[in-house]
Amino acid sequence: MSSQIPNPKPGIMDITPYVGGKSTSTGTGRVAKLSSNETPLGTSPKAQAALDGIVAKLHLYPDGGSGALKEAIAEIHKVNPAQIICGNGSDEILSLIANAYAGPGDEVLFSVHGFLVYELAALANGATPVKAPEKNLTTDVDALLSLVTDKTKILFLANPNNPTGTYIPFSEVERLHAGLRGDILLVLDAAYAEYVEKSDYEAGASLVARSKNVIMTRTFSKIFGLSALRIGWGYGSDEVIDVLNRIRGPFNVNAVAQITAIEAVHDQDFVRKAVEHNRKWIPILTQRMRGMGLLIPDSVGNFILMDFSETGKSALDAEAFLSARGLILRNIASYGLPNCLRMSVGTDDDNRDVIDALTEFLGQ
Ligand SMILES: *Cc1c(COP(=O)(O)O)cnc(C)c1O
Repeated sequence: MSSQIPNPKPGIMDITPYVGGKSTSTGTGRVAKLSSNETPLGTSPKAQAALDGIVAKLHLYPDGGSGALKEAIAEIHKVNPAQIICGNGSDEILSLIANAYAGPGDEVLFSVHGFLVYELAALANGATPVKAPEKNLTTDVDALLSLVTDKTKILFLANPNNPTGTYIPFSEVERLHAGLRGDILLVLDAAYAEYVEKSDYEAGASLVARSKNVIMTRTFSKIFGLSALRIGWGYGSDEVIDVLNRIRGPFNVNAVAQITAIEAVHDQDFVRKAVEHNRKWIPILTQRMRGMGLLIPDSVGNFILMDFSETGKSALDAEAFLSARGLILRNIASYGLPNCLRMSVGTDDDNRDVIDALTEFLGQ
């Protein structure tokens, strides 16, 4: 037998595989999974009802172009369906973008505490990830622009950002875009857009409509409560969408995801309920935890970042303490924030339990 083994392409062995939020706790009772920014409201009943019709059709291939779903998205968002691509989660679209536009010798730029998938997508293609510093845990447009080089191919911007929960106003996104060469693709990852209620925020569709080098990505995993089905979409220029369509799998979005997402995107009442629940809890969680000495950036998403640096206690000990009580928060050391935890807004009971447990932990 030969001692040789197949070697992957450069960059791949530099990847630390993505580890999602934990789903088990060390406790024995009720478990609240607040580690992956899923919605506490479950899935829209209308979207669930769509599943009934699909069981008899599981032997048939799905619509490879996700045509009906694109029409539904286009109708709700008032965009051109031909400029939409659907994906197996928006993660797939982020990967397709890197597959298509970045390779060895190229640079992929993003903010230092930006979403982890950007770095993985760059490395998987042998490209070099470049991380711009942030100001107050917020994207710094000047820092990003100062790191653009001849080699820059893609700039990924999560707005709002995960795991910090902070955002930049649309005027800043426009300033960022204006400072980029036309051959650099600006990716506006708006996974949490539905939650944002700031008058100076825009997810980015209007910038896509007037630019050749911008794509906005969206997901059904967060506010729509369809994480398990893996379904997301992108809206970009005809040219960019054409490129991504050439390299995606021919049937990249399964039929169950398509049919369910069509109902979900039409159920805007469900979205409104989720926004209301979030609007109630983000200020309460932020104020109560600041009152305990935790540092909390203002979040516009459905999660908050808590920094233990000034409490005299460690995030790791807090994570263990909460887990023993069935409360699973996200350790975000892999995002370069070792003394922080991220908490998704849960049900009323979940949120109260976290506040009580943290009060006990920090009072010890
Ligand atoms: C959760 C998340 C996504 C996407 O997820 P999919 O489930 O792959 O659609 C994308 N970007 C950010 C910033 C996220 O937090």
